[in-house]
Amino acid sequence: MKRSPMSRGAGFKRKVWPSRPPAEIEAACGFQPDEGPFDHQVRPAVRRGTYAAPPPAAAVPKQPRAENRHLLDMARGKPCLIRSPICVGGTETTVACHGGGVANGKGLCYKLDDWRTAWGCYGCNHYTDAYGGATRAQKTAAFDMGFLRQVLEWRAIVADPTQRPKDRLAAQWALNHINATPVALDSPL
Ligand SMILES: [Zn+2]
Repeated sequence: MKRSPMSRGAGFKRKVWPSRPPAEIEAACGFQPDEGPFDHQVRPAVRRGTYAAPPPAAAVPKQPRAENRHLLDMARGKPCLIRSPICVGGTETTVACHGGGVANGKGLCYKLDDWRTAWGCYGCNHYTDAYGGATRAQKTAAFDMGFLRQVLEWRAIVADPTQRPKDRLAAQWALNHINATPVALDSPL
């Protein structure tokens, strides 16, 4: 088939609208008649809506500290589980230590929840709080070890039917916060 060569200027011409494109084209382009004369080559930048500034990120409500007075009271007369280098041992001074000095290293949002405690003597309570003679890493290690032993103590209390029901309930409350379960009474720690 013989093709005649295209003559210069023929075909592929840019489509030129008439003075105004058909209404349906205008509509498809989102043209609003009240915007004035339709300019099919340069669309006016028309603000189609007002964009309100996004609302400020909702402030994350600070979770209340998880409290359990009875769990803290259970520390009375118990052995020290933290066993830091300045441990005084015994049972007379034992309290539930929150490890305040360690907690400060974990950021401002860190809550001193009552379930994150370990029975500690006077010396160890000081060691994991304001004691200046240890690094934060050393304090953290001591507190974490005490906390591990504490979890095992709580597990043993919950698993032991001879323990007071109130104690077992409080220990279970703590375990629930860390998804731990009661286990056997003897502990490798
Ligand atoms: Zn101690």
